[in-house]
Amino acid sequence: MSEVSVTKDAVPTADKLVVLDNVNKHFGALHVLQDIDLTIARGEVVVVIGPSGSGKSTLCRTINRLETVDSGSIAIDGKPLPQEGRELAKLRSDVGMVFQAFNLFAHKTVLENVMLGQVKVRRTDKKAAEEKARTLLDRVGVGNQADKYPAQLSGGQQQRVAIARALAMDPKVMLFDEPTSALDPEMINEVLEVMKQLAEEGMTMVVVTHEMGFARSAANRVVFMADGRIVEEATPEQFFNNPRSDRAKDFLAKIL
Ligand code: ADP
Ligand code: MG
Repeated sequence: MSEVSVTKDAVPTADKLVVLDNVNKHFGALHVLQDIDLTIARGEVVVVIGPSGSGKSTLCRTINRLETVDSGSIAIDGKPLPQEGRELAKLRSDVGMVFQAFNLFAHKTVLENVMLGQVKVRRTDKKAAEEKARTLLDRVGVGNQADKYPAQLSGGQQQRVAIARALAMDPKVMLFDEPTSALDPEMINEVLEVMKQLAEEGMTMVVVTHEMGFARSAANRVVFMADGRIVEEATPEQFFNNPRSDRAKDFLAKIL
């Protein structure tokens, strides 16, 4: 049996939610994304790992067009990424993003943080937006913090609010860029638990993380990046037990 995991052609077209086709990007002389082909199926959880500087964050940021690409194409649910304007705002809300730094609005309450995008981008009326925000805050376990300001919450609570805020937009896919890296150790699990629950509910997720326990238990596929390239793709079991490339073996030896 081939060990090669899901390839572009293995996924039926209708199930291809995110498709990157031969994407290249430079920062000046640095070729930060090199010939990236990546297809993410609806409902799939892909964990992206790799050394610092390998292009993982840039990859995430191109998927919701926080960064442009130099060549190649990116499509979400069959539609190419729009260039600007309302279509781009709509795309951004289809692609939820959770960063290492929680990026909540400091001068808004937790509840307002989760209502804002619904009202401004989705044009949801305030009452419905509030109801949904409260439901989501409950779901991530911070319903009782709704009227506080972000600074009054722990890092783990703030990150769960950030997840609720992204979910409020009914995203088609959620991108997580090292969501637990800035957290004190005792708060990491409460965030990972929320993410695991989301994965179990069928959310399509791209997760950049060093949490190998999460990768093993929640990922359908591991994508290993080094120097701007996807070096290896495999199931977590294959990847952790039997990495094929020297780069991956090296990396795993350092972190495990
Ligand atoms: P990772 O998330 O895997 O650590 P990044 O995608 O953040 O990697 O960065 C990949 C490379 O691109 C790094 O060498 C980084 O310094 C560089 N880089 C990232 N963002 C920028 C930028 N806006 N301008 C110039 N170089 C950048
Ligand atoms: Mg990064």
